Amino acid sequence: MANRTERRSLVGSLPALATLLVSVGLLVAAFVRWPQIHWGGQVWLLVMLATFAVRAPFSAQVRKNVIAERRHDRVEATLLTAMFAGMMVLPMIAVATPVLSFADYRLPDWATTAGVLLNIPYIWLFWRSHTDLGRNWSPGLEVRDGHSLVTRGVYGPIRHPMYAAIWIGVVAQPLVVQNWIGGCLALPAFAALYLTRIPKEEAMMRAQFGADYDAYAAKTGRIWPRFRRDRRSAA
Ligand code: SAH
Repeated sequence: MANRTERRSLVGSLPALATLLVSVGLLVAAFVRWPQIHWGGQVWLLVMLATFAVRAPFSAQVRKNVIAERRHDRVEATLLTAMFAGMMVLPMIAVATPVLSFADYRLPDWATTAGVLLNIPYIWLFWRSHTDLGRNWSPGLEVRDGHSLVTRGVYGPIRHPMYAAIWIGVVAQPLVVQNWIGGCLALPAFAALYLTRIPKEEAMMRAQFGADYDAYAAKTGRIWPRFRRDRRSAA
């Protein structure tokens, strides 16, 4: 449900801080255990650090945002938590500790390599979409005071490049983190978040930007790039 009364950004919330603290603890454990970690897991750790490095400055920036509208419900909060667990906490436990080793599997090196290579477009698109969205980014569904509709950069051909990046990341994850719990659960968690969030996010953008959003949506693909054919009107 839309909530216009709460105005703080979600970034500083308690669950986010708790997750961060647990992640830091696990990160220390991972580097202590580094030589015993499968090389796919080692690469995943570095990609995870890159993910944090991309996101951290934006998290700090949007904390100053004044939130005009928030469409955050229980389903969204639950799935966001499941996503954090599937994409960050469980793989970290699988890589950094022997706790989940009963669920390990091993793939051939070519499959691990495919996972490593997929992480290149993942981190590039994740970084570009943050840069293009700037202070309009938010972890939950929010519109800030002064929100602008971004239609340039990676938002030119795709409406949801950040989600496209995350799709690539969750497909790559089971190839590098070779563990049924730490590698595979992010995919269904993100699929559920994506499917429930897209209609709500697009409705929120449409309510905010009206015909401008309709025109933008008509020219772009959701996660698959669509390049404009109407060059005459673009010229
Ligand atoms: N769905 C986008 C953005 C994810 S961040 C992507 O995958 O790249 C989520 C927030 O981004 C939403 O709360 C919404 O306020 C904002 N947002 C989404 N698309 C936007 C756009 N084209 N311009 C500005 N803000 C946008």
